[in-house]
Amino acid sequence: MCGIVGYIGPRKARTILIEGLKRLEYRGYDSAGICVYHDGVLGLQKSPGRVSEVEALAEADPVIGAGTIGIAHTRWATHGEPNQANAHPHVDTSGRIAMVHNGIIENYTTLKKFLIDQGCEFTSDTDTEVLVQLIGHFRANSCDVLEDAVRAALQEVTGTYGIVVVSVDEPDKLVVARKGSPLIIGVGADEYVVASDASAIIEHTANVSYLDDGEMAVITREGMRTTTLDNVPINKEVSQIEWSLEEIAKGGYEHYMLKEIFEQPEVTRMAMGGRLDLREMQIILGGLQGIDRELVKTRKIILTACGTAWHAGLVGEYMFEELARIPTEVEYASEFRYRNPIVEDGTVVIAISQSGETADTLAALREAKQKGALALGLVNVVGSTIARYTDAGVYLHAGPEIGVASTKAFTCQLVVQALVAIMLGRRRFMSQSDAKFYMTALSEIPDKIETVLQQSENIKDIVARHVDRDNWLFLGRGYNYPVALEGALKLKEISYIHAEGLPAAEMKHGPIALIHEGMPVVFVATRCDTYEKVIGNIEEVRARKGHVIAVATEGDEEIRKYTDSVIYVPDAPVPLQPMLTVVPLQLLAYHAAVARGCNVDKPRNLAKSVTVE
Ligand code: GLU
Repeated sequence: MCGIVGYIGPRKARTILIEGLKRLEYRGYDSAGICVYHDGVLGLQKSPGRVSEVEALAEADPVIGAGTIGIAHTRWATHGEPNQANAHPHVDTSGRIAMVHNGIIENYTTLKKFLIDQGCEFTSDTDTEVLVQLIGHFRANSCDVLEDAVRAALQEVTGTYGIVVVSVDEPDKLVVARKGSPLIIGVGADEYVVASDASAIIEHTANVSYLDDGEMAVITREGMRTTTLDNVPINKEVSQIEWSLEEIAKGGYEHYMLKEIFEQPEVTRMAMGGRLDLREMQIILGGLQGIDRELVKTRKIILTACGTAWHAGLVGEYMFEELARIPTEVEYASEFRYRNPIVEDGTVVIAISQSGETADTLAALREAKQKGALALGLVNVVGSTIARYTDAGVYLHAGPEIGVASTKAFTCQLVVQALVAIMLGRRRFMSQSDAKFYMTALSEIPDKIETVLQQSENIKDIVARHVDRDNWLFLGRGYNYPVALEGALKLKEISYIHAEGLPAAEMKHGPIALIHEGMPVVFVATRCDTYEKVIGNIEEVRARKGHVIAVATEGDEEIRKYTDSVIYVPDAPVPLQPMLTVVPLQLLAYHAAVARGCNVDKPRNLAKSVTVE
């Protein structure tokens, strides 16, 4: 998920690798490392800190300073804390093969057991080390060349990867492979620069070959050979990068927030990866395995969080009650911590936080734990304070979120809660066929988000017609009520437009007094049990000359009659709809902020991680 650089050519590898890592820093990372081959030895330096620390270590290392082939990495931990041992590159037990990896090896537990039985000695907690050990195992036992060992190992793994491998025994060769995690090969004069992101390549060459999923390349000083994983040769085109360096940082998007909104198909897939097993129709959440028995006995769930994560919790409340039939409450962490809450036997408190450092959420957890609750965490940052403090938990796998306004972490919070709710439901009252229905529908969500994203320009046009308005309302019912709250919060956070989110039926108990000619009112009005009632609420706004923007289900032409603008989302079972309906509201807020000239990624007065009370 984070950054890779590899080099082979006539120049000293160290400078190119370190400069490449610096170019990748913008993506966010928690640790970094470098490995360069020279004269029969691999020089390896890693640091749990910044790239500059790796640079200092590399400068003092004569092997790293001398070699002309090497690999480097910025890590964003998914498996194992961000410390030195877990930083990449990883090396196999023989010490002769080194690898950097982006992505997640889903079946690493099974493979690790096998490799330990074979005598491999593990030095990290990562999923990555399993893959390099497996490559080492095949190279030592059945394969004569590195690429065959890589190919054999990749046949055994499930998950996502972008990898670059080097070996002492074949010192003039980089082996690279990709599935679900980008890799680009820069083709220079007598040299190659491999990277997960064009920004690390562009200053060396504009000629690049984009590796596709399921492809491998063997790069030597003489040239490059690309094949499928089954060793069928492929003729790859070399194309020209047309973006400037400035455009490439942020992945070609104008802002991190937009990049992160567009990453949602990929990260929701990651959040389900290895967890949603459609073949066996089961949900495997490694982080909860040790507390299985306790979880089945849950009598009450309290979800606690702040801001956007609290909205995710509100959706979770509906999910846990409907899918798992467990009474659930959602509490602002800042309130919960001072309320002397009643925590009875069988209470599970679940903290939701992107950063895992939110001070109020941590304090709420402390309060809950002190009163004897089982404390779980749904956090994005591996090894963060909340992750370490809880009894168990599930990581979000949303990747680093840099834009201050949370987007992709929110959708992953919904995905992870759906996984937990279905898993708990299945152990209690949910039938096999219902579980199958929801699990299949969940697996289709990433593709559906993709189709919502295609409407970004349409949403921009809609926003342009209303962007001069200073007061907006967002309304929804049921599962889409928290989405309305989140839509309003996003707009407030980054465009400074005043917005309120409400359950649609509450409007007539007061806020309807605000409606006046031309006031933008956003309805989340997808097909569900309360659809007709929401149409009634839309009529109430229209009667007072408000401007209605509706998020509706694809194919619902009828709704056009009642609304000024419609944004369509694909249909999905109601509990999963928020994963789709929130996306247009994120885009709406984004385009409004850009149109108003606001600093989208760093809105005034806000911090990414609120570590103060
Ligand atoms: N899953 C790997 C790890 O936790 C790779 C993470 C990344 O993509 O940076 O080390």
